[in-house]
Amino acid sequence: MDFLQPASWAEALAAKAELPDAVPLAGGTDVMVELNFDLRRPAALLDLTRIPELSEWETSDGTIRLGAGVSYARIISELGGTLPGLAMAARTVGSPQIRNRGTVGGNLGTASPAGDAHPPLLAARAVVEAASITGTRFIGIDEFFTGPKRNALKPDELVAAVRIPLPTGPEQFSKIGTRNAMVIAVAAFSLALRPDQQAVGTGIGSAAPTPRRAPAAERFLAEALAESGLWESRGDLPESVSAEFGSLVRAAADPIDDVRGTAGYRLHALAVMARRTLAWTWRDYQQARPAMRGA
Ligand SMILES: Cc1cc2nc3c(=O)[nH]c(=O)nc-3n(C[C@H](O)[C@H](O)[C@H](O)COP(=O)(O)OP(=O)(O)OC[C@H]3O[C@@H](n4cnc5c(N)ncnc54)[C@H](O)[C@@H]3O)c2cc1C
Repeated sequence: MDFLQPASWAEALAAKAELPDAVPLAGGTDVMVELNFDLRRPAALLDLTRIPELSEWETSDGTIRLGAGVSYARIISELGGTLPGLAMAARTVGSPQIRNRGTVGGNLGTASPAGDAHPPLLAARAVVEAASITGTRFIGIDEFFTGPKRNALKPDELVAAVRIPLPTGPEQFSKIGTRNAMVIAVAAFSLALRPDQQAVGTGIGSAAPTPRRAPAAERFLAEALAESGLWESRGDLPESVSAEFGSLVRAAADPIDDVRGTAGYRLHALAVMARRTLAWTWRDYQQARPAMRGA
């Protein structure tokens, strides 16, 4: 097996163009498991860890550009307050060792329906920046996941970064597993409120062939909040609204029975997580009431 170790992004893209079968290697927490279990025997590995740009993040024009090689540990320590939904998800990934090595780019590369970064990226309407020697393509996160462990990358493309609009309201992430740590999600859910646009974002994990949003639930909640003036008043949420939101999130899922849980359990859990994350985000929204309001 060849081991390619480009020192620059241009070299990495050139290597991928020349050898499209070369398997990119970031933290290696998925790739090395596959190699060790002999599930994969690629002709070449393309080590991306020496490319400085991939491990950088920056903010501009209301968007964070998160390099594909930024680890979960750094998302937690450097972006915990800025991207709360993604940071909450990052805290649930594996163990400290996995969070030190594992990256969002690698999570997107694997494109597992259970990848924990995916629900908050969906809820935030992130955009994946895919690059090749011919240029850069921006892929909406909705279009990125094309099947179980399949994504929209072309053979000569690499993920350069993911662009995440800066949150303008509270975000939450909830994950159910068979134990509290080092666990693949049985089901996961992410919620983001965007009061500036009176919009709602959702992301469902581990309960469909791909990570996906719940668009009908998003529309319902955004409209219910608008019709009752709750975006402005920040009054208490009617129970009927959160119950219907939970039902619509459940209806958006399409889970299977597997070793980690049954489809029925996943559906039930999603409705519960949707209601709970809504209660938590709404409480945060109420507590963040502008100081002037009601004065
Ligand atoms: C013990 C253990 C626990 C885990 N727990 C969790 C968990 O709780 N939640 C969770 O979501 N995951 C978990 N994982 C899976 C893994 O840690 C994550 O998927 C992680 O995000 C992978 O990132 P990485 O940088 O290690 O990717 P790698 O293993 O280096 O790569 C993963 C895939 O992405 C591709 N890739 C990497 N970078 C790029 C790029 N820039 N462009 C294109 N393709 C690229 C690789 O070729 C490969 O196909 C766990 C893994 C282990 C071993």
